[in-house]
Amino acid sequence: MSQGSDMDAVVVGSGPNGLAAALTLARAGLSVTVVEAAATIGGGTRSEELTLPGFLHDVCSAIHPLGVASPFFKSLPLSEHGLAWLYPEVQLAHPLPDGEAALLLQDLEQTASLLGQDGASYRRLFAPLVERWDDLAPDLLAPLHFPRHPVATALFGVKALFPAHLLSRLVFKNAPGRALFCGMSAHAFLPLEHPLTSAFGMILGTLGHAVGWPVAEGGSRSLAAALASCLRSMGGEIVTGCAVKSLADLPAARIVLLDITERQFEAIAGPRLPAGYLRRLQRYRYGPGVFKIDWALDGPIPWTMANCRRAATVHVGGTAEEITAGEAEIWRGVHPERPFVLVAQPTLVDPSRAPQGKHVAWAYCHVPNGSTLDMTDRIEAQIERLAPGFRDLILGRHTRNCLQYEKYNANIIGGDINGGVQDLRQFLARPKLLAPYRTPLPGVYLCSSGTPPGGGVHGMCGYHAATLALRDLE
Ligand SMILES: Cc1cc2nc3c(=O)[nH]c(=O)nc-3n(C[C@H](O)[C@H](O)[C@H](O)COP(=O)(O)OP(=O)(O)OC[C@H]3O[C@@H](n4cnc5c(N)ncnc54)[C@H](O)[C@@H]3O)c2cc1C
Repeated sequence: MSQGSDMDAVVVGSGPNGLAAALTLARAGLSVTVVEAAATIGGGTRSEELTLPGFLHDVCSAIHPLGVASPFFKSLPLSEHGLAWLYPEVQLAHPLPDGEAALLLQDLEQTASLLGQDGASYRRLFAPLVERWDDLAPDLLAPLHFPRHPVATALFGVKALFPAHLLSRLVFKNAPGRALFCGMSAHAFLPLEHPLTSAFGMILGTLGHAVGWPVAEGGSRSLAAALASCLRSMGGEIVTGCAVKSLADLPAARIVLLDITERQFEAIAGPRLPAGYLRRLQRYRYGPGVFKIDWALDGPIPWTMANCRRAATVHVGGTAEEITAGEAEIWRGVHPERPFVLVAQPTLVDPSRAPQGKHVAWAYCHVPNGSTLDMTDRIEAQIERLAPGFRDLILGRHTRNCLQYEKYNANIIGGDINGGVQDLRQFLARPKLLAPYRTPLPGVYLCSSGTPPGGGVHGMCGYHAATLALRDLE
């Protein structure tokens, strides 16, 4: 990369947050260059032929309720740049060992009625949030601030603070409702006895009704491509294959936005940082990681429960109690024998990703941070229990453990896909309470999922960081 450039801004990292930050600056009229370590753009939104030719797999993110709900992405003409969301008939299926399955349908009334006795409680929990989602989204997908819609936020916040295991027992009497809620809450990557874990179940459930849980046509890379195309149309540039090892490597710019997490920032800027801020970075914690498998399949997964064949996302983990026990084990450093497995079957809605009649499937389970244990047998056994004959369909398989993920993308520290633990403490201070994006170095900002509102493909960390940078510039 050329030195001595007179550009306004440099963004390090082309994940959804890096691209969102660059777009925010470019839209404000600044000249922006994005510098990416990997050979391709996109961070957690890449798709590749990982198994066999003609089978396209999402390397990281696959399911995009946060992407389609993102107020920032919605403000961009992404469909004009090639992005199309594809929606399954059933947003989420959660099969249970006794042959029942809880289903999240976009229609809230239908979802509630399928829960029978628990339908009224489900409606009471989700209907007010779904109705107010447009007010809630900008307040929830943002750093800590006085809410613009205090009533809606309070309505959410009181229950969101509950541990998910407890709230599921208080709200639901029967296994399907409890399992559905705990499965969604397990996206927190925390023991479900921890406060704030309900927030994840409440947001994901609400999104299922308010916007759906779609996949991107042609793979998640289509989102990265649309963001990049939009950025280029505003004059932004992207340079790939350039890993930034030190801030001194960067050309002169008025603003530097870093789509990297706290530990990486310490590595590239440590000696220049004041002791207090450095200690804050050093105290920042990373959570459990993932073990992921991608399969090329000879046919769709043969779920016994037919409704699971209508969903792009299936939560395989059994009852709320089983999921809760498994997530607690991982927190203690134990690999569960029967892990909670998140399965995506994108070719059910996007056949373009595999040869005719064939399918791809994607699954991961949570494991202790830094794990290198091969969870293939445990994950496949979990699916086989509910879809006998699944293993016979496997044509090809690709796996990645925590350390392989970190090697693939330096932001996935020890396999943590959220840029750091998302518990109450790091929800409030990520890495600090006020203006979390601003660092002590003038003009230098963090903008990755290691800042609020945290993990997921929504670009809101990048948007808020860049907005703060623009305000500081003024
Ligand atoms: C297996 C897996 C499954 C997931 N599933 C989902 C899902 O279904 N839905 C969802 O919403 N989210 C999902 N996520 C999470 C989501 O991918 C992340 O939260 C999101 O990508 C974070 O965006 P980001 O821009 O902060 O960081 P990233 O997307 O990680 O991007 C960071 C970028 O910065 C680059 N970089 C890092 N260091 C440097 C450096 N020194 N110099 C230059 N470039 C650098 C990296 O190469 C990378 O391209 C998943 C993640 C994984 C790993």
